[in-house]
Amino acid sequence: MTHNTQEPLGEKNNEMHAVFSFPFAVLAITVGIVGWAATKKTARANDHRHQTSTAPPELEYLKVVNKAAPPQDPQLLFLLMGAFANANRPEEGAEFFSACLEEFGPHLTDVQQSLYLSAIGLLRAQHASAVSLLHRIGYVNDTIAMLDQARKLSGGQVFVVNWISGVVRSQLPGLFHQKQAALEDLKWCVASIGKAPHTGWLREVEFRLAKLALADGDRRKAQDHLRQSGYKSFDNPVTLNTPFSLDTFSGYAFAPSTIREVVPARVYALSGFEFTDYYFVVSDDGRELIGIDAGTCADSAKLAYEALRAYAPNLPQLTTIFVTHSHWDHIGGHRYFRGLTPKPRFYARSNYHEEIERELNAPETVGKRFFGERFNLNDVRNFKPDATVDCPTELKIGGTRIELIPIHGGETHDAMFIHLPELGVLFAGDFIMPYIGAPFVNEGDFEGLLDAMDVVVQKNPRYILHGHEPLTRNFSSAELLAQLKGNLSWLRDAVLTAVRRGDTRPMIHQANLIPPGLFDGRPDALVPYLILREHVIDRLYRKSTGYWQAGTSLEGLDHLSDSDRAELLVDYLGLSQKQLVTAACKIAADGKYELAASLLDPSAARFGRTESISKAERLVYLKLMEKYQNTDPFKYILYSTKISEQTPAMTTSR
Ligand SMILES: [Zn+2]
Repeated sequence: MTHNTQEPLGEKNNEMHAVFSFPFAVLAITVGIVGWAATKKTARANDHRHQTSTAPPELEYLKVVNKAAPPQDPQLLFLLMGAFANANRPEEGAEFFSACLEEFGPHLTDVQQSLYLSAIGLLRAQHASAVSLLHRIGYVNDTIAMLDQARKLSGGQVFVVNWISGVVRSQLPGLFHQKQAALEDLKWCVASIGKAPHTGWLREVEFRLAKLALADGDRRKAQDHLRQSGYKSFDNPVTLNTPFSLDTFSGYAFAPSTIREVVPARVYALSGFEFTDYYFVVSDDGRELIGIDAGTCADSAKLAYEALRAYAPNLPQLTTIFVTHSHWDHIGGHRYFRGLTPKPRFYARSNYHEEIERELNAPETVGKRFFGERFNLNDVRNFKPDATVDCPTELKIGGTRIELIPIHGGETHDAMFIHLPELGVLFAGDFIMPYIGAPFVNEGDFEGLLDAMDVVVQKNPRYILHGHEPLTRNFSSAELLAQLKGNLSWLRDAVLTAVRRGDTRPMIHQANLIPPGLFDGRPDALVPYLILREHVIDRLYRKSTGYWQAGTSLEGLDHLSDSDRAELLVDYLGLSQKQLVTAACKIAADGKYELAASLLDPSAARFGRTESISKAERLVYLKLMEKYQNTDPFKYILYSTKISEQTPAMTTSR
């Protein structure tokens, strides 16, 4: 466990600090440098890419963002680099960033230049195997020179620059003599993990150290590093530096476990102990502890609560728990707290049981996939608050004034803000998420979201503390929410206009809808808008069209299954299993993983999960995990569970 290890990157240098001073900026990188020899095939596959095929909307969005101006938040630069790398478009990516560097260069600080050079260097390294043999050595030497230059400009202390340098150099063939430099960079990253946004950045570092040791013939050392990386095998086609972790038993976590004092000795935030964050507040008179939400399961609640008690042994008794909304992950741990002496009093909205009923009617597999084997739906079914709230309510606990404010969206209709005006803290639950309601449940209220945003803006709290760490990080201020509300209203109008016109859902996504003025507004709205856009479109589309799309497309009218599609492919088109798998791998090499997956499902329906189909599935879903590792946690979970892949949490306890 780490306590507040996050430091601004490169604090010693003012320029560097300016670049990284964006609050909670998480540099997100998906790299996937394809091995030197293994990419010949990939390069060939790329030659066949149809120029007419559409680029993923998130890639197009990030291109527009990065073209508009050098991003204040370097996360946006590295998200785009990762998108190019994952889509296997490294040449296009290297050219894109080179053009940006040329255009913005004169106005950039040294550190900003070093970030561009690092991104270009990484994408060039990925592209190197497609360069003709005659030019390849020169091309790689130029790339190494860029990494050297980046290190020089950054003063050697910027984590992401050294990380890219180490990761790229470690994969170069011996003739370039970069092994020693790679080892130095990678070891620096291990020693300086406190300068990284989170410990997830260690995963690839350990994996690269493992591969270097393996190449040296030191199997023991290689195994040790591999174990530290959390990967199961030396054969790994993706780069994961996600803060997410996923484990069959304990489920998913958004962040490494931390205890943070939001208001020193008064408000404690516990992240990463499980799926959901816990908060505890010490009352004004110091005699009562007030909890916000009860977590997912009794044993994770125990783990989190005991960690808090160990961290701050003199806290008063827990007397009250406020429930922000009655979702699985906010009430499932109530049994543990009920067992404490004295028993804390639970407050929830009066319509909590309607929400629980909705959850009990959702597919049962969801619970264990998201929350792990230990999750028990009965703990949700049995939840019953001691007091319910159906209108704005003010009360005092231990001298602390608390406002309970019912809201009706965007996620659930039983949501409630818990506002402590004197402390400047608002506990917001999950009213705003990337998703408008859980995507696999018939819920979500877009207008309710906009109304709730108004409430936050009106209360204007100093701290908005959400149910999950990435929400707290991304939706961090009332000013931001005020702007985002305008952006989302524009998006709603654009989607509804498109629906009336008869546009299909893919057409709406491909339109790359960007509100006018987005780039002139707050720079911290750019990532939130990106992560919400896809899901706002999907929820509004579904709610506006019903289960038939009677516009341009007739989607929803038929009920063709994977077996029907297999019939088409195998019986009518005469394709063999081998041909189907080969095609899926070719599609994957062009970076179109959803399309590849759509071919593998019918293949498995006809031939079963044979060795070759399973192998192709593993590759495709790993790449999908890589693609969404920083922007879409629920996709990350579902793609992981599809291939039973776990992502162990990284530790720094070396
Ligand atoms: Zn939640």
